[in-house]
Amino acid sequence: MKQKFAKFMYGRYGMDSLSKFLTYLALILIIVSAFLRPYTKIVFFVLSVLCLFLTYFRCFSKDVPKRRAENVKYLAFRRRITDWFMLRRDMWKQRKDYKFFKCPSCKALLRVPKGKGRIRVVCKKCGTAFERKT
Ligand SMILES: [Zn+2]
Repeated sequence: MKQKFAKFMYGRYGMDSLSKFLTYLALILIIVSAFLRPYTKIVFFVLSVLCLFLTYFRCFSKDVPKRRAENVKYLAFRRRITDWFMLRRDMWKQRKDYKFFKCPSCKALLRVPKGKGRIRVVCKKCGTAFERKT
């Protein structure tokens, strides 16, 4: 039995981060659908089935380069979201010592020490200078 499955999976893509995410999403959708009205319940249930179908399709797919490229895109997207939250967490931790500004021309995030009065801030990225109260 184990050998049969191994033979079946030979050359197939298998599980990756995107497939795991889709599986968890399907599980969450099923749990949420239990608390909804009949019509929306069906919508959530169909979405969860689609997620599971996509997971199995990706796991058993033999087009490994395409599945890998999808996973890379997913990981980059996930990274952008986690980076956004990590930055907000760091800003929150440093809020007593630093003040944060966005550069008016390139929108880069700038950090300056707090309590220095009105200072001239120079963007490290583009060199634009502007005055702000800290
Ligand atoms: Zn700038």
